[in-house]
Amino acid sequence: MVSIQFLGSAEEVGRSCILVNDKYLLDAGIKISGEGQEYPLINQFDPRQIQAVFLSHAHLDHTGALPLLNYNGLNCSIYCTKMTKKITKILLNDSIHIEMLSATDPAYSEENITKILSFMTIVDYKQQLKQGDISFKFLDAGHIPGSSSILLEIDGKIILYTGDINTLTTRLTNGMQFHKQLKQKIDVMICESTYGDRDHSVRAETETKFIQAIKNTIKKGGKVIVPTFSVARAQELVILLSQQNFTVPIYLDGMAKKVTDTFLSESNSINNSSALRQALKIVQYVKSYQHRIDITKEQGIFITTSGMVAGGPVLDYIKFLYNDPKTAILLTGYQAEGCNGRLLLEQQKAFIDGIGLSVKCYIEQFDFSAHAGRKDLIQVITALQPKKLICNHGDKESCLALAKAIPKNIKTIVPELGEIIEI
Ligand SMILES: [Zn+2]
Ligand SMILES: [Zn+2]
Repeated sequence: MVSIQFLGSAEEVGRSCILVNDKYLLDAGIKISGEGQEYPLINQFDPRQIQAVFLSHAHLDHTGALPLLNYNGLNCSIYCTKMTKKITKILLNDSIHIEMLSATDPAYSEENITKILSFMTIVDYKQQLKQGDISFKFLDAGHIPGSSSILLEIDGKIILYTGDINTLTTRLTNGMQFHKQLKQKIDVMICESTYGDRDHSVRAETETKFIQAIKNTIKKGGKVIVPTFSVARAQELVILLSQQNFTVPIYLDGMAKKVTDTFLSESNSINNSSALRQALKIVQYVKSYQHRIDITKEQGIFITTSGMVAGGPVLDYIKFLYNDPKTAILLTGYQAEGCNGRLLLEQQKAFIDGIGLSVKCYIEQFDFSAHAGRKDLIQVITALQPKKLICNHGDKESCLALAKAIPKNIKTIVPELGEIIEI
């Protein structure tokens, strides 16, 4: 018998953390919302008893709780791909993140981050490995560079943990393919369900509308702020925008610069490194705060972190330009409740340095998601034919909608937070 406990990511997006047989963890993330960050249910187990952690990818909703777990005694191998290690290092050491940590968790420090990074054991895709009573293999999940689904075998049961997946090929990643080839019979598939209840708009159409919105803004004499996530989204936008022959300069600011350099240092980990290299001949890095002030006096396109306008240089850009109705703020992804991105969309408002600003800029949101849409998820699940499907990493409605859409011969479960499933 194998027990699987959901310490997070149950009927929610965020804080993915799944405990297997009380001694293995699949991911250890945080949930970022308007109020700050929430941790998985770490009082439900003893981190000192954990024998291995398997990380699907570097996003903080899958890795952000690791330093706190180390503070509480976690001391074991953390298996991940090389790119996941490199990007996790950047994200955990990010100054905004550290600031948030010291505000909410004075208990642990940068030393815990250093320890976590030293525990990371690099694995390659498709490498069959074993530790103790568990065998495992990482498979390319197509979500961001280095992202993985993990196939585990323990106590005679085969478990597939998808992590976050994308079946579509983007400018940076090849879509996941393994579901077309995998021959093993899967006992339990733990599947992300972010878009379990909806499909994406067609990517090409989204791009056309996005570029048109930029052109309209430039024509009116306005400036364009593009808040973006630093991993993968920013680099895709850099490539896309560099190819449009805009008449104004394009800039990249924030942590996305470091991530871009990291992708280029491991050029075989991304789909098209020459396109990214080429794009950087057109897109310029913003070098300092003063540089930021200077460039915003002229027309330009400013691609900058963070994607939900929760921190980072995007706050400076909005501070400088919020009163200008000709300026556009074009959001490029999901906006969590309570974050500035959502406030901008719903109330034309943003809180910066504790002050609520009434933002006069034009605001629009575009769906550049890196997650499989509903149809793709159903296709992947149908191809793999697991005996049981557990839907997680999605709002309650999304998880339930996905579970409902699956052929009846597959038993589906939508776990609640803290629930233990035995197989
Ligand atoms: Zn992710
Ligand atoms: Zn995620």
